[in-house]
Amino acid sequence: MSRQNFSKILRDEVFKWNAATLMGGVSGVRIDERYQKDREQGLMYYCENCKFCHTDKKYFDIDHLVPDKQMQGTGRPSNIWQNAIVLCKSYEAGTRGCNQTKGSANWPPPGVGLARSRRDLDLNYADMHERAPNTQWP
Ligand SMILES: [Zn+2]
Repeated sequence: MSRQNFSKILRDEVFKWNAATLMGGVSGVRIDERYQKDREQGLMYYCENCKFCHTDKKYFDIDHLVPDKQMQGTGRPSNIWQNAIVLCKSYEAGTRGCNQTKGSANWPPPGVGLARSRRDLDLNYADMHERAPNTQWP
């Protein structure tokens, strides 16, 4: 289980930041014309690992990244919270959401995420190979 010590206010802010990032465009994310308006209006969220995109927050959760010390030198664009990430969250057994598979590790293992297991839900139509690998992450 992921730690859940983000306040509701902070969670809302992190989700807002996530949606705003998507509004500005994220490498490896391509949104169908039908949903561009949602993205442009800040109503869409994305998993920072597999780039799964959806307008419903229920498919996402906020988790801690790594201890601040480990953040140094990772090249990650920093946000004001520095240590919060939005990851996709699975509901059905075996769908391997990035948040669940991350566990207490610093980052989810390769090959997981709703982007792979629930393509039917994913509003991002970019192929997996276009979704930049997270080689810059610890
Ligand atoms: Zn994911």
